[in-house]
Amino acid sequence: MDQHGVNKDHFCTIRTVQDVSGNTKAALLNEAKWTVSRLTVGFLEGDPQLRQRVIDVAREWTGPDMANLEFLEDGSEADIRIAFQQGNGSWSFLGTHAQQIPADEPTMNYGWLTPDSTDDDVRRVVLHEFGHAVGLIHEHQNPEKPIQWNRAAVIADLSGPPNNWDEQTIENNIFKKYNAQDVTGTDTDKDSIMMYPLPQSWTLDGFSAGLNSDLSDTDKEFIRSAYPW
Ligand SMILES: [Zn+2]
Repeated sequence: MDQHGVNKDHFCTIRTVQDVSGNTKAALLNEAKWTVSRLTVGFLEGDPQLRQRVIDVAREWTGPDMANLEFLEDGSEADIRIAFQQGNGSWSFLGTHAQQIPADEPTMNYGWLTPDSTDDDVRRVVLHEFGHAVGLIHEHQNPEKPIQWNRAAVIADLSGPPNNWDEQTIENNIFKKYNAQDVTGTDTDKDSIMMYPLPQSWTLDGFSAGLNSDLSDTDKEFIRSAYPW
């Protein structure tokens, strides 16, 4: 892996309702799981063709062999509300936490997608953000077999461009651990679409992960069991 390439990546920051309320409770799959199977998806803005590409990729999570969920395109007051605010990063709230967001605000943002984005770039970020939208946490925060971080190296890289994260953002998005009893999961899957690309220099035990742009076999198996038919 090209370490410089990895370090230049933009990373998704997860949005939690706790960011809004100021509480410290973690945002977790189990409590964020939808109990309905029809979810509406609305766009607050954006190029029509780009919107179509987003919804087409998002639907890879759903269907007979995948989650028992349906994404129905609807107006702007949908369950999942998408914005394309450039420079605001790419992020999503976790699952049902979106219901706590005021109806005129986005629950998901694509800060670096434009009509010129390649299919690969669209797939990578849309599959990932919709993973959050159905309640999946970042795979590198999976409590099963936790990653042994080289904290200094991670902080040094992420506090610089293009991410420019402050310490709290790095804490929330990288180091924060979830309680195993609050998360349903498999062992940490380095091929998961919910994994960040992790250079070996960020870990103390040689663990690394590449830039994933597809659902892994484990992602598929897992979402089927999380939202069974
Ligand atoms: Zn993410």
